[in-house]
Amino acid sequence: MKRRKFLKNSSTITAGILSAPILASCNETAPSKTDKPETDKENIPIAICTWDFGNATAKAWEVLKEGGNSLDAVHQGVMVEENNLDNQTVGNGGRPDRDGNVTLDACIMDKDANCGAVLAIENIANPISVARKVMEETPHVMLVGKGAEQFAYEQGFKKTDLLTEKSKQEWLEWKKTSKYKPIINIENHDTIGMLAIDKNGDISGACTTSGMAYKMAGRVGDSPIIGAGLFVDNEVGGATATGVGEEVVRTVGSFLIVELMRQGKSPQEACEEGVKRIIAKNKDKQDFQIGFIAVNKKGETGAYCIHPGFSYRTYTNDGHTNNPANSYLKA
Ligand code: ASP
Repeated sequence: MKRRKFLKNSSTITAGILSAPILASCNETAPSKTDKPETDKENIPIAICTWDFGNATAKAWEVLKEGGNSLDAVHQGVMVEENNLDNQTVGNGGRPDRDGNVTLDACIMDKDANCGAVLAIENIANPISVARKVMEETPHVMLVGKGAEQFAYEQGFKKTDLLTEKSKQEWLEWKKTSKYKPIINIENHDTIGMLAIDKNGDISGACTTSGMAYKMAGRVGDSPIIGAGLFVDNEVGGATATGVGEEVVRTVGSFLIVELMRQGKSPQEACEEGVKRIIAKNKDKQDFQIGFIAVNKKGETGAYCIHPGFSYRTYTNDGHTNNPANSYLKA
């Protein structure tokens, strides 16, 4: 909307008269359908996820190639890692907090901006499924802790002991030397965030994690926070994050990346800008890990991280690829 028109409309609102002409004039400048980016049919369907979780994107691809929608694809895709007991940073088998309790975070978002999240949920192996139930069966977006767990039981989820012997032993070792202090650990970074575009060009995303190992009880990072760990706008694209959640929350990282794409940046450029904003706020900090991945409406992808070693998986018609992500290297 042009500034002159905006001022005129603002003063009308201040005067308390919200009239039809305002809506008409706002509509005048809303982008027409033809201004919106079109999906490039050659790039879709596509599934993309943080890190080298090949089995997860393969599962998502299975859903997409059968003509399934992007919401089911990301849901079923990330569940593969939630069920993978060898993955100690997601779902069942995740590392506990410093008191020895495994608390999980997850969120999901669809093409219509419907979303659901669970934060610090215990005893439930698939938090992403509970997040989807929050989205579909409640008027809310987020459920936390005991409330989320109780809701899960009401929905038929089974109580599960999530602390594996391996994670328990490692935690007991950690306790011997840690002085009970949570550490921002650059190696604690295997959250799975996944984005998918289905054959109709519709985008969805999911993100799930056990969070930072040996965190304080009740700590929640970025992963289940819509806008921080995950954001999807079906007209523009989607983004998701992994790494030190506190930093991603501070910059509302995934939302920022989608907005940068809306303004014309490619997914790669947008991820780089997102990381640079975090670096700018942390000039003195060494050795922390943040990685973003993004996909735009055309099906183009990008990824960027602080600290080398981040990669991301794509699954498209061209096949299955583990892509090393470009990274910011401190001079
Ligand atoms: N982003 C997650 C969190 O802060 C952790 C990670 O991705 O390593 O909880």
